[in-house]
Amino acid sequence: MTISSSNCDRKWVGAHVSAAGGVDMAPIRAHDIGANAFALFTKNQRQWAAKPLDAETIARFKANCIKYGFTHEQILPHDSYLINLGAPEEEKLEKSRAAFIDEMLRCQQLGLSLLNFHPGSHLKKLSEQACLARIAESINLAHQAVPDVVAVIENTAGQGTNLGWRFEHLAQIIEQVDDKTRVGVCLDTCHTFAAGYDLRSVEACDATFSEFDQVVGMHYLRAMHINDSKSALGSKVDRHHALGEGEIGWPCFDYIANDARFDSIPLILETIKPELWPDEIARLRCIDQKSPVNVSA
Ligand SMILES: [Zn+2]
Ligand SMILES: [Zn+2]
Repeated sequence: MTISSSNCDRKWVGAHVSAAGGVDMAPIRAHDIGANAFALFTKNQRQWAAKPLDAETIARFKANCIKYGFTHEQILPHDSYLINLGAPEEEKLEKSRAAFIDEMLRCQQLGLSLLNFHPGSHLKKLSEQACLARIAESINLAHQAVPDVVAVIENTAGQGTNLGWRFEHLAQIIEQVDDKTRVGVCLDTCHTFAAGYDLRSVEACDATFSEFDQVVGMHYLRAMHINDSKSALGSKVDRHHALGEGEIGWPCFDYIANDARFDSIPLILETIKPELWPDEIARLRCIDQKSPVNVSA
């Protein structure tokens, strides 16, 4: 495999920053930590209902993004944790679908083009196949309701009955989505590792990303969450750690920083020590160009 080497300019790195005080505060907070990408919640992620975004907040958000140089491609909104697009029970499914469409509308109002979400859980009341089909149908309904926004499926650690931890799950959802130009994947390194895909060495990263390419397709990769893992390979336990302090280690993160396949997509930290974010971002954006770790023939 030939891997082209990258450079800082094409890496979009940031963190999931707080939107406390209004979504318009998020780009300021991202700028303050040296980020050129960021993630945010556009509403309280633990509540179903939210008041609509007002025109002034939307205008301030857009102005701050322009001021600090964030384009819509560098911003990765995350949906509410309550939403289950594969919910077995009709009432919960309807509620989730309505809330997801509202999340998409909020993105559209803010001029954003990506929406990152967790695929869903079968809660032992549906088969995996039926749940994956429901998730795909939920995406189709959202696409019909809202133009322009890309549904970005996040892979999971496989905790509980969450689907989306196998690359095959992601592929099966995408296969059943009608508009393939508006569906993509966000790979979380911690979730990938906890789900059983090794990332601890250059060779392991080569194998894991080549498996992703074969099963899903690298062109569907629209974002990443860059997290180290407190829990072991294949543990199916989702516990994020600061980069280099967990089970994955820096070789994986340096690999991503140096590899052009991960250029020009948001690379978002959800690591547990925000005080380290400026250093983590700096290293991912401007790694020592003299010693790329992953250029292989
Ligand atoms: Zn997430
Ligand atoms: Zn996680």
